[in-house]
Amino acid sequence: MTRKFTKENLQNIVIGLDFDGTCVSHEFPFIGKDIGAVSVLKRLIKEYNVKFILNTVRDNKYLDEAAKWCKDNDIPLYGLNINPEQKEFSESPKVHADMFIDDLSLGIPVIYPDNDITKKPHVDWREVEKLLFDNVQDINEDLKFIVNMTRRKMGM
Ligand SMILES: [Mg+2]
Repeated sequence: MTRKFTKENLQNIVIGLDFDGTCVSHEFPFIGKDIGAVSVLKRLIKEYNVKFILNTVRDNKYLDEAAKWCKDNDIPLYGLNINPEQKEFSESPKVHADMFIDDLSLGIPVIYPDNDITKKPHVDWREVEKLLFDNVQDINEDLKFIVNMTRRKMGM
């Protein structure tokens, strides 16, 4: 069984977001190519009001370049390799988030490109978008279904 999400419990969550192979194709130390992340990330902001923490082993100028990519693509960052609120309850260096999107995560949908740019797998954002928007339970829809079934049974 995998973790289940509903549209309700995806609201206002904090997502730890990897960069190389996740936001862009994996071409470190360079900034990789567009792999379809931006529209899904913007949809997460618009529909679920999520906050992103860039969670990457990039540091120094490489981290700055990844943060600039986010800024240039209108993806606001709540944190850069840290959750700004977690020092209140933990001294651990592990980023605290409600969900992580990372090309190395177990179970994450990936594409194995076979082109001259890269052969390294990267996140399959079409599939991730389905997981986050199409395949989540919608409690309101379930309730509507139950109400309609009950009404039908009662002849209303
Ligand atoms: Mg990665």
